[in-house]
Amino acid sequence: MLSYQHSFHAGNHADILKHYVLSFVLNSLNKKDKPYTFFDTHAGSGVYDLLDNRNLKTGEGGRGILRLLESSASAPEELSLYLKLVSPYLEKSLYPGSPEIERILLRNKSVLVLSELHPGEIDRLRYNISKNPFSGTDEGCSVQIHFRDGWEMIRALTPPKIRRGGALIDPSYEDKSDYQKAADTVCEVHKKWTNGIILLWYPLLAYRRLEIENMLLKIRREVLSVNSNAEISRIELRVAGENSHRETSLESLDGNNPPRLYGSGMLVINSPWKLEEESRRAVGFCESVLKMES
Ligand code: SAM
Repeated sequence: MLSYQHSFHAGNHADILKHYVLSFVLNSLNKKDKPYTFFDTHAGSGVYDLLDNRNLKTGEGGRGILRLLESSASAPEELSLYLKLVSPYLEKSLYPGSPEIERILLRNKSVLVLSELHPGEIDRLRYNISKNPFSGTDEGCSVQIHFRDGWEMIRALTPPKIRRGGALIDPSYEDKSDYQKAADTVCEVHKKWTNGIILLWYPLLAYRRLEIENMLLKIRREVLSVNSNAEISRIELRVAGENSHRETSLESLDGNNPPRLYGSGMLVINSPWKLEEESRRAVGFCESVLKMES
């Protein structure tokens, strides 16, 4: 059963990191005037309402993107593309999810492949993508939406016909087996699509440290065994101390609770030029603005 709902968390520190790195990678793919394929295995609904009761209850959007927006005048240049992308949505109290960011940035006959398994989320995703509230650039991309298991989808559809491109893998890790599934899937996909840029989001949770480190270690080892020169970046954004995590149920949240995650990370295989260098300043700024009192 799928109980995770991203509406509770939209626009939080984890979304900021994930979508900053995603927009950097897509922007670097756009530097060549050639189409590419991009997969998003766990797409969510595409656009979120920051005034939705679920988001107000956790306070995550408020402590995340809305707080970052207040400090945007002093933000470093490295964050400008991401802030420019999200600003028109924030003006309407909305926040764009990964499929929306991909839809806007992909162009030149590129192909976007999305999958989502939650029946409610897939309906909202279809609606949001078909509605196109903000026009894409140039000729735009073609979008395929699958009501399908994302792990199975990316295994089945890679390597794509247009081999240039990448994938975002963004599971909720609700189920402990997701750590193993993520490692196995990334390794399998990398073996047959060696030039694909794979972005894997992961949570920072003290009580899951072993699962997280094992997952990252396995991926690093297997990727380097395929290509010892592969560029692998690990970029993390921390908003609190490692032990600040509390297992607070969503029902008992009131917007002022300690964080359920102390941060999150992005593992990027075939990392584009300068991603790590530019992320250092962007992430440093976000950490200083989003830091939670413990
Ligand atoms: N990537 C989205 C973004 O950045 O805007 C957020 C995605 S949210 C973290 C994870 C989503 O994966 C949820 O909408 C959930 O319903 C969906 N999901 C869970 N298991 C899945 C699976 N096996 N295949 C596809 N989607 C799944």
